[in-house]
Amino acid sequence: MEFLNELETMARVATQQSEEPDTPHHDDIKRWQSLFGLSYSQALREIQGHRSDLSRAIVSDSHWDIVRAKKEAEGFNKEAYEYATRFRAPKPLAIPTANHHQSYLLRLEGLIDNLAIVKQASQLTKAPPIFHGTDDNGNPVSFCKVDVTARNNIITYLSKHEPRFQPTFVPCHIAAKDLSTASAHPTLGIDATMPQFRLSSADDWILTPAQSQYPVWYFFYGTLADPTVLGRLLGVEPSYEDASVRGGILKTWGGKYKVLIDAPGGIVHGAAFLVQDQDQEDTLRCYETEKYEVVRCEIDMRDKKVKGLTFRREAYLSAAKCDAVGTFVRLWGKGSSIKILLNARYPRSNLLSSYDYVIVGAGTSGLTVADRLSADGKSTVLVIENGQIVDSPRISQVYSGVAAMGPTWSYQINSVRQPNLNNRSTSVVVGKLVGGSSAINAMMTIRGTSDDYDRWGSFLGNGSTWSWEGLLPYFKKIVDLILTLSEEAQFEAFRDIPGVEFPPDSGSGKAGVYWFPTFMDPERVERSYARTGHFDLINRTNFEVLTDSKVTKILLEGGVATGVSFEQKAENGTAIMSVKAKKEVIIAAGAIHSPQLLQRSGIGPSALLDSAGIETIVDLPGVGQNFHDHPMVFTNYVLQNFTVHPNPVDMYSNQNFSAWAQEVWRVNKTVIAPDTFEEIASKLEKLDHAALLPNGTDLTVIAGYKAQMKNMAAAIRSPNTAFYNHVLTGGSSSGTIVDLHPLSRGTVNINVTDPFASEPVVDYRALTNPVDLDIMVEILRFTKRYYFETRLRDLAPRQVQPPEYVNEPDDLKGFLRQNVNPSYFHPVGTCAMMPRELGGVVDERLEVYGVENLRVVDASIMPVLVGANTCQTTYAIAEKAADLIKADV
Ligand SMILES: Cc1cc2nc3c(=O)[nH]c(=O)nc-3n(C[C@H](O)[C@H](O)[C@H](O)COP(=O)(O)OP(=O)(O)OC[C@H]3O[C@@H](n4cnc5c(N)ncnc54)[C@H](O)[C@@H]3O)c2cc1C
Repeated sequence: MEFLNELETMARVATQQSEEPDTPHHDDIKRWQSLFGLSYSQALREIQGHRSDLSRAIVSDSHWDIVRAKKEAEGFNKEAYEYATRFRAPKPLAIPTANHHQSYLLRLEGLIDNLAIVKQASQLTKAPPIFHGTDDNGNPVSFCKVDVTARNNIITYLSKHEPRFQPTFVPCHIAAKDLSTASAHPTLGIDATMPQFRLSSADDWILTPAQSQYPVWYFFYGTLADPTVLGRLLGVEPSYEDASVRGGILKTWGGKYKVLIDAPGGIVHGAAFLVQDQDQEDTLRCYETEKYEVVRCEIDMRDKKVKGLTFRREAYLSAAKCDAVGTFVRLWGKGSSIKILLNARYPRSNLLSSYDYVIVGAGTSGLTVADRLSADGKSTVLVIENGQIVDSPRISQVYSGVAAMGPTWSYQINSVRQPNLNNRSTSVVVGKLVGGSSAINAMMTIRGTSDDYDRWGSFLGNGSTWSWEGLLPYFKKIVDLILTLSEEAQFEAFRDIPGVEFPPDSGSGKAGVYWFPTFMDPERVERSYARTGHFDLINRTNFEVLTDSKVTKILLEGGVATGVSFEQKAENGTAIMSVKAKKEVIIAAGAIHSPQLLQRSGIGPSALLDSAGIETIVDLPGVGQNFHDHPMVFTNYVLQNFTVHPNPVDMYSNQNFSAWAQEVWRVNKTVIAPDTFEEIASKLEKLDHAALLPNGTDLTVIAGYKAQMKNMAAAIRSPNTAFYNHVLTGGSSSGTIVDLHPLSRGTVNINVTDPFASEPVVDYRALTNPVDLDIMVEILRFTKRYYFETRLRDLAPRQVQPPEYVNEPDDLKGFLRQNVNPSYFHPVGTCAMMPRELGGVVDERLEVYGVENLRVVDASIMPVLVGANTCQTTYAIAEKAADLIKADV
């Protein structure tokens, strides 16, 4: 499905979702039972799953009109028909699991606090090996190591004897080491079953090294050949010898890591290091994870050849891309001082107790800032991310840019029901994975107009560098412009409306009609996003990303941010951990979660914090207020005689098309205003702005809102602020219409009844400023004019949505209340960069008011939405933030 159509689908699903009751109607369940042969509960589950799947395909009204009679006769309604014809996502790559290597660390505590009881419960013939270490508070802890069978036996034992006791098992991801005593197996580059590799005598050379032979030479080729990494892991100053091995070649895995795989005849150059004992070796095996195995090899050094070992990528994984994420557990082996890194599926380095910079969120802004700060090779940067690294064609593919949008990689949040939208609620979609929302967005890259950025500066005083001119260098830093497809016939039709301007491109800072590019890597023809741009190809030991870890609190000491505490997912529960920031804590959790984190940490409106039982550290009333997003509405005009080429299908079928698209990249500027614009601007000025905000809103926040509304009245009169956004589909039916400058303001606040465990309460407060409706009515009228009063008239337009008979302002408002979705997935404003007396949360340097060493660098700092999709602007903010931070060092 073409990607803009999918975006529309998404918009429609998001809009429709909340209209549907939580529990499906009995008749629907019956219908699904009989149509799909499901049990009652299966049908119930399927309907609920279908309704909550934002990526599901929607059957268009025109298609349904055609098939309706036939399908209804068969018992379908439109929803059941959609389900029957649903889009099936590609199955994820199946990678065999290495269960035979899996072992676990079991914590000795409670009912199983000693080895004797573990031996009994696990049915082992001898007690398992024990490890001692310390927990986060420095208290001693002990673990023992068990395999899968022992683990299962222990669980069975406990379920019989103490079902309420939850044992702590930590998966131990360690590279396998099973050196055969009967053959050369495993050896780099050879198949030990071949006759020439069979043993001829018991002390045959091919048995060297033996399983427990120390010291032993290891050959390193990737990060372990880096003395900083090895030194940090082993706590020694490493001394290497230049070396090479035969029988393998290096491949790049996951776009980033070097891996050694079998290749008879191949030669690999690297370094040899003498591993002293088993503790050192265990550390290295844990570092490399279960995705590698220790194999024998002959190491060629300058002056000698030795029989040694190396880490080989497991054969079945050599060609596959795999995740490299996981958690860290630290223990001290066998009472010695050597650290053992366990369960580390992320092969960069050990987790330190402190970093120069700790960044919350590996999303669009977080990775950008991390990349720039670590570029000097010295500043240590840790990024903590709640989601995982995800490799999926649904993310990388460009021909369906919104295939990743559904719930799979998003937070599961539903907004507060909106009284002005007929009490509907809507899904709040923000990315939860490395790359953040840039990994799941629709890839449209557009800048606002120069007025949009100058407006930010106007709140901050004369000479602010938060302006079009001030941000332009950062915009330029972000993208290598690659042209994309749009639709000429629909594009050109705008020329028939007097006053419509055509700027040269979407980056000129001018309002009008233009082609826009997408975030795409032209060589790989894949999504280009924060992960691919600021993480995948970077191999710095001072830049680490920790995944599956949710930051719950900023640690504050005497008004200074000193670190964060976070929850890290482990297989059997959650570990509470903390890390210190020597220089700064940088929040990049996005507009929905950054205010939540500040509020949880005692920085926010004191009344709200009081009601949640959180001690106020800094009374900062603006945190979580000033929330807004672009409202959108799905309209549908069908061009009945549409036979225009090129169209989206040509994109894939016509080889010459992209050359053609390059040719048509040009044109000029400005915007057309409805006759009513002066009336609308005056109405906005006369409103009682304080009354439009929630009861009890702080006076500073009200003052900020008044300043914004004054500015927006000027914007309504300005030819260079766009309010209307219409993405052309290039197909026979049209699309999503967006109000680029909403005037209503909502809130994103902690859930006071459960501030730490639940998602924030998101209230768009949609259409609470009545002028939003006036503007959207004009937007609908303009859309109709575009179809019926331009050359598109010749293509026989037919109005489907809003229905033809809905024309009067009050009726159009009714249509909008029923159909507007308050989000175009562009939440901003919740940590606004405004003066504190105007309800601001951060200053011009993005520093949080009242706290030292704490900044916010993501989309939440936009005081007012720009008239464009927000990703490019977020990158620019992050680029500027990095410069501001570096300038402070
Ligand atoms: C479905 C969708 C479609 C969109 N389409 C477009 C488009 O076509 N063009 C465009 O320009 N813009 C688009 N956007 C908007 C754009 O992608 C965002 O504005 C931008 O990516 C926001 O960047 P950010 O850094 O503020 O937040 P994000 O990129 O969302 O990053 C925040 C990160 O922080 C993590 N996080 C949150 N809380 C915590 C915590 N407590 N601990 C640890 N980690 C945490 C999250 O998991 C996430 O990875 C779209 C957005 C979405 C969701």
